[in-house]
Amino acid sequence: MLFRQIIGQDALKQKLIQSVTESRVSHAQMFLGPPGSGKLALALAYATYINCTARTADDSCGTCPSCIKMEKLIHPDLHAVFPTTTTKKIKSNPESVLFMEEWRQYVVREGAYTHLNDWYEFLGVENKQGTIFTRDANELIRKLGFKAYEAEYKIAIIWMAEKINIQAANKLLKLLEEPPAKTLFLLIAEEQEEILPTVRSRTYLVKVPRIADQDVLKALTERYQCREAEVREAAMLSEGNWLEALRLQENNEEEKYYFRTFQQWMRLCFKSAIPELTDFTANIATIGREKQKALLHYGLHVFRNGLLVNSRLHEMLRLTDEEKEFNLKFAPFVQAINIEPMIRLMEEGINHIERNAHAGILFTDISLKMVKLLRMKN
Ligand SMILES: [Zn+2]
Repeated sequence: MLFRQIIGQDALKQKLIQSVTESRVSHAQMFLGPPGSGKLALALAYATYINCTARTADDSCGTCPSCIKMEKLIHPDLHAVFPTTTTKKIKSNPESVLFMEEWRQYVVREGAYTHLNDWYEFLGVENKQGTIFTRDANELIRKLGFKAYEAEYKIAIIWMAEKINIQAANKLLKLLEEPPAKTLFLLIAEEQEEILPTVRSRTYLVKVPRIADQDVLKALTERYQCREAEVREAAMLSEGNWLEALRLQENNEEEKYYFRTFQQWMRLCFKSAIPELTDFTANIATIGREKQKALLHYGLHVFRNGLLVNSRLHEMLRLTDEEKEFNLKFAPFVQAINIEPMIRLMEEGINHIERNAHAGILFTDISLKMVKLLRMKN
């Protein structure tokens, strides 16, 4: 992780960089901040910067051997402990060292914007709570007893320090208080109240604020390669939580997909364009059952909107401009004479998909019926 990959947090980045350039690195620091603020990302960027052999005044080089190993989280002087629990693979005595490969994969995949629930989901143990155990503390103490392999600093990441159990904390206290030379503890935590006071009092607090709206907005436009207007809502609703911003925007993207696909489908039905409809249904046959069902659900939603528009209640609709335009145009084709069969068509389609109907045949059938239904006049 490099500082330039961090979303926003410019003031804090400056402070961290300064602590290195002025040789004021505290040996045990607690990065405390709300979900999605980038605590782990910042700690990793900081660790990378400290051990980079060609750092500049504002970032790590990103290309020296140390930076490359840090990026993959495989630096021999980087150690990490984090909450684990029993899984299908590890049926007893879980500890971080047994999950190192998974944790690396997870953190790298998420660009270090992590969350405990997502981690549990990654491990396939959504309903369990993880712990940082005495075994983890012992292993960390053992590893930190060696000299650094190749870096100036040995770095111990303790991710989600509120999950350290009391026995493990007791083991770690002495180390936090008097760490071996050139050893740096970076603790990451979300809930100050849940961290054992003995641990809290031995660390220097680095408060990570929520990300500024403007920075979330900028990062989303870069990620989705789009205009600000398309991600503004997600950015504002996320309240500075990058994970939430991504989730909201993914939902928007999904909505957009169903909107576009349904719109295209209905256009082809209007035109009764049979060859294109054949291509369309062949494509829909490949998107998978869940998406097929969601597309039909989206259809139901458009039909209901049509009714609202026809009853002059469309001011109630919360739609994007594009969707509103389509719904207004579509509404005149939703009439007393065809609304029931149209709704039934979609609902039956959903049932058929659940019962493993052949999607190609099913969607061809629905298309041909829609062609007729759309031509009905009261
Ligand atoms: Zn470097």
